Amino acid sequence: MNFDKPSQVFYGGSWREVSNGTSFEVFNPATAEVCTNVADASLEDVKFAITAAADAKGAWWELSHTRRAGFLLKAAETMEERQQEFVDALVEEGGSWIGKAMFETGYSIEALRAAAAMVFHMNGEVLPSEHGKLSMAVRQPLGVVSVISPWNFPLLLSVRGFAVAMAIGNTIVLKPSEETPLAGGLLLAGVFEAAGLPAGVFNVVTCSRGNVKQVGDEMIANPAVRGISFTGSTAVGRQIAARAGSLLKKACFELGGKDALIILEDADIERAVNAATFGSFMHQGQICMSVERIIVHQAVADEFTQRLVANVKTLGMGDPTAMGDVIGPLINQKHLQNVHDQVTDAVEKGAELLAGGHYEGLFYEPTVLAGVRPDMKIFHEETFGPVAAVITVADMDEAIAMANDSEYGLSAGIITRDENRGMEVARRLETGMAHINDSSVNDEAHVPFGGVKNSGMGRQNGKFSVEAFSELRWITLERGGRQYPPPFNE
Ligand code: NAD
Repeated sequence: MNFDKPSQVFYGGSWREVSNGTSFEVFNPATAEVCTNVADASLEDVKFAITAAADAKGAWWELSHTRRAGFLLKAAETMEERQQEFVDALVEEGGSWIGKAMFETGYSIEALRAAAAMVFHMNGEVLPSEHGKLSMAVRQPLGVVSVISPWNFPLLLSVRGFAVAMAIGNTIVLKPSEETPLAGGLLLAGVFEAAGLPAGVFNVVTCSRGNVKQVGDEMIANPAVRGISFTGSTAVGRQIAARAGSLLKKACFELGGKDALIILEDADIERAVNAATFGSFMHQGQICMSVERIIVHQAVADEFTQRLVANVKTLGMGDPTAMGDVIGPLINQKHLQNVHDQVTDAVEKGAELLAGGHYEGLFYEPTVLAGVRPDMKIFHEETFGPVAAVITVADMDEAIAMANDSEYGLSAGIITRDENRGMEVARRLETGMAHINDSSVNDEAHVPFGGVKNSGMGRQNGKFSVEAFSELRWITLERGGRQYPPPFNE
């Protein structure tokens, strides 16, 4: 695809050349060809973008909330008109299967609309007062919010990071992943430009991995930045959290996962197979809440595993623009190598390879491993690839213990016909989210999305993003009831 602004980023309402005039190449993982060139911003550029956001924040917040909502709704409409551009970018730079790209685009449009509605939910409280004052807890935007997003659902996760924060009066500097700069940021800039958003409210800088340390650090440390939304790996999230924490900035972290799908002995096996196949193989398993460990009761393990393998063998792999080829490429060589190392380690330690295990280019065959145990890397490390790792257990307590034996705690699925047991398992799991009779892969625009343990900190979406990206202030109005000690009075 041809992006017509190869050395420009968007800030202060205009497209600007980056200071050093350089760009970097973005590859199509399916073909290994360069699909576009985008601007490689440096420290100076991101400083300009943050200044533009800081300059815009007062007027943006002062704007009536219906007008702010109006810009988000207009942007959603424009995005709907340009859907195909987003779908193409998600397929070409992100290696998305076209079905996933269409879903992601449609859902992101709805997320913008849902965010617009949040202007009506900047709610505070009126508090009782000992002195008869009017005492209020009032929400105000933070100011400038930096948003850093990943490549796997680049459009949706950028939108999730900024949309509510922007609707409630913050201004935004967004840095998409270097793997997916168009879908993750630059196309969104075009949409807000077309929607006539006031200059400086939404700014996008792109940079290569080589520049990300200095650009990223400025997005955290610049004194004008008061809030941070980071979605990405635990390793990078931890560094950013340390930096943000030392500067006492409000921040929200959506990080890695190692989610379990627990299948109890009374499970509907068809539902279990479908939830496992979707959860492990949608977008080649490159979803933070992918099913990475399938923990199945021994009474149904054989039947489940046989049916899973048969189902997985029906998944087409190849050209992501073909509706039938649901398995596309992994994002890059380093990532593929990590997936393969984990599969190899598991097989060497005794896991049974029932399907897949091979690759060509960046296409990794949908893989099923049985007999996975805690001494294998694949049990603990995030795989982020098309691998279903099956673990057999003797009972429900062992299933819960296995699921909780992880540094991560993002989401989980539990398949059982007994809803009470499902609820008990959900309660005992150490995760931010749990879904009974469903896969771990779930999201809606108004729910508290987020993890515990090394999967993150804070919750995003709907009113939870309002809490994350606003400051709660106490404001009082004294009306004569407050008495000071007599020596202080005239
Ligand atoms: P990553 O951590 O490598 O990169 C994420 C973002 O951080 C990118 O924009 C990258 O350019 C930027 N970055 C890298 N180094 C930086 C630095 N020093 N300072 C500032 N920014 C920096 O992650 P990724 O490979 O893009 O994404 C995959 C990871 O994201 C997986 O671990 C996945 O589980 C996680 N993820 C989590 C969620 C969630 O909601 N919990 C959603 C999607 C992905």
